[in-house]
Amino acid sequence: MSIVESKNVSFVYAVHDENGNVVDSIRALNDVSLKVGQGEFITILGHNGSGKSTFAKHINAILFPSGGTIFVDGMDTQDGEHLLDIRQTAGMVFQNPDNQIIGTVVEEEVGFGPENLGLPTSEIWNRVVSALKSVGMFEYRKTSPNKLSGGQKQRIAIAGIIAMRPKCIVLDEPTAMLDPQGRAEVIKTLHELNEKEHVTVILITHYMEEVIDADYCFVMNGGELVMEGKPKDIFSNVEGLKNLRLDVPQVTELADELIKKGFPLPKGIIKREQLVEELIKLKNQGFKAPQSYREVEA
Ligand code: ADP
Ligand code: MG
Repeated sequence: MSIVESKNVSFVYAVHDENGNVVDSIRALNDVSLKVGQGEFITILGHNGSGKSTFAKHINAILFPSGGTIFVDGMDTQDGEHLLDIRQTAGMVFQNPDNQIIGTVVEEEVGFGPENLGLPTSEIWNRVVSALKSVGMFEYRKTSPNKLSGGQKQRIAIAGIIAMRPKCIVLDEPTAMLDPQGRAEVIKTLHELNEKEHVTVILITHYMEEVIDADYCFVMNGGELVMEGKPKDIFSNVEGLKNLRLDVPQVTELADELIKKGFPLPKGIIKREQLVEELIKLKNQGFKAPQSYREVEA
């Protein structure tokens, strides 16, 4: 069964004036249908305003479809009876760790969620310990969150969600405010959680590098799902992505330029090692670079 299934979901924001009268409406989602399997690591890509956050809020039952239906672990999000179940099944992590962290000590912060579930103290403690270990922050358990780096804070926010044992974790641009090291830490943590604990990861991002190792990728534009596929298939379409105002990984761009110059490389190269390997293969096959490249070679 899918952990998330969106069937023809549309959503319209009502825009109000200061008196609360509806003066306008904005269609943020239009007929979005997709499925995410339990245990998958998927990414949602899209330029600003493409509807990613609006969609994420539907998975966590913060927003409800204006049309269509969203099922989370088989539960219709509009079925009020399942609201708490849904929020516990699909945990959310947002962009700014500072807005999510309220505790004064790391272990207390991570314990909030399980405590609210009404679990016994020993179970809360077990969960706090294992959640902190799974994000590599156990040694910071007695630290004050405001002494941590952005990447560390975001890992604490993730631990707080993980301690609730969700089947699925939805992250809305969790690395947007982090430096490259913080970004790498968070992404590594997510892959570990996915591989070791089989937590489904739905990562919303506009950093192409974060998409490369995902199982599957959805691309949104103007509230619609416009592309989907494995990362290497998505990145085979360099022109298509550029038309959506999305960048491709540097190495993909380089490979694409080389293809245009006559290098017979395969499409959809997304990793540096892959490009190196393919170039060595060409060299061993006796391929001669086009004239303009020989000087560089020499
Ligand atoms: P993304 O996360 O991809 O940047 P959003 O889901 O935030 O996109 O926004 C999709 C569209 O909905 C945009 O046109 C945005 O301006 C609009 N929108 C988002 N939030 C609101 C809101 N609270 N009220 C009205 N319009 C909104
Ligand atoms: Mg957003």
